[in-house]
Amino acid sequence: MSGSSNAATARPTLADLPLRPELVGEEPYGAPQLEVAVQLNVNENPYPPGPEVVADIAAAVATVAGRLNRYPDRDAWALREDLARYLGHGLTADQVWAANGSNEVMLQVLQAFGGPGRSALSFAPTYSMYPEYARDTHTRWLTAPRRADFTIDPQEAVAAVKEHAPDVVFVTSPNNPTGTAVALETLADICAAAPGVVVVDEAYVEFARTGTPSALALLPDFPRLAVSRTMSKAFAFAGGRLGYLAAAPAFVDALRIVRLPYHLSAVTQAVARVALAHADEMLAHVDLLRTERDQLATWLSEQGLEVAASDANFCLFGRFADRHRVWQALLDRDVLIRETGPDGWLRVSVGTHEEMATFTSALRQILDDPEISARKDAAR
Ligand SMILES: *Cc1c(COP(=O)(O)O)cnc(C)c1O
Repeated sequence: MSGSSNAATARPTLADLPLRPELVGEEPYGAPQLEVAVQLNVNENPYPPGPEVVADIAAAVATVAGRLNRYPDRDAWALREDLARYLGHGLTADQVWAANGSNEVMLQVLQAFGGPGRSALSFAPTYSMYPEYARDTHTRWLTAPRRADFTIDPQEAVAAVKEHAPDVVFVTSPNNPTGTAVALETLADICAAAPGVVVVDEAYVEFARTGTPSALALLPDFPRLAVSRTMSKAFAFAGGRLGYLAAAPAFVDALRIVRLPYHLSAVTQAVARVALAHADEMLAHVDLLRTERDQLATWLSEQGLEVAASDANFCLFGRFADRHRVWQALLDRDVLIRETGPDGWLRVSVGTHEEMATFTSALRQILDDPEISARKDAAR
């Protein structure tokens, strides 16, 4: 039925609306949010905040509730001071920026430094949201390949940066969906070669294996480098929506130009500050999750599967001739994982010990059925 003839009265369909042509046929971001007993699909920390943190959060919300007639601090200054202190490395509040999740920070980076006639480059496979923000900001999206083991070849990376001269480079370390950490020397090489800004997305850095340094150490050497972080993963605060970035004060000033007025609500600012004040408790399960991650990787390879080396709270494994069948068979057993990454691979988040036991026993049953779990041939 065409909506155009009776558009005044009918509820229009998307096809009736003058949507930007490059958005026609696009789907909203969609890891399925299903009510499943074991949810291992969006890399959340499975441990909720403890009763003391919950009580302090409730008290902080009660305090701001009495002032909700007023706009919040536009520059979230107190929160940025707390974030700077949390990051260390001698950082100060003017070097830190915060938004509603680091996804909003990424969008702001492209609003400020991307745009028509400009380009952004990343190393594939990489985070699936970057190309969407490039599309939304009319920034040309470019990728250079990672090696077969998902590490980045520094010489090839530098060559790609020199060839394309992108305005923005995104390097995800540890990477999503592969879990791969990028060596600090490689990041330095990329920064030295990049004509524009470089964002190292460290959403998972707290899960990295001991001795993996943060790109924060490179900030003094590279004035166009930014390091983004999030409270959504290790910090167990995904529902609080707080992401942030550290960079030179001028970089932060650029983001302040494009941010919406009062983008961070008073509630968000207050609640995030309480969570930061309880950083030790919020991060209390990180060591346990890293151990669980290493055990999961070992178990997966013992089953004869390929597993990408992971410094994050998930493992990418495969490769299956029909990964959707394996994903569905797990869902049929009440385990939700993620169908993402290169063809044939699946990604599973690290949950509690009990959740991992449910996952491994379900996957073992599926692997025992050669029809569902047929492998892709070994050559990549
Ligand atoms: C989860 C994730 C983020 C953080 O997202 P938020 O918007 O802060 O919840 C950022 N980058 C990558 C690569 C991620 O996987």
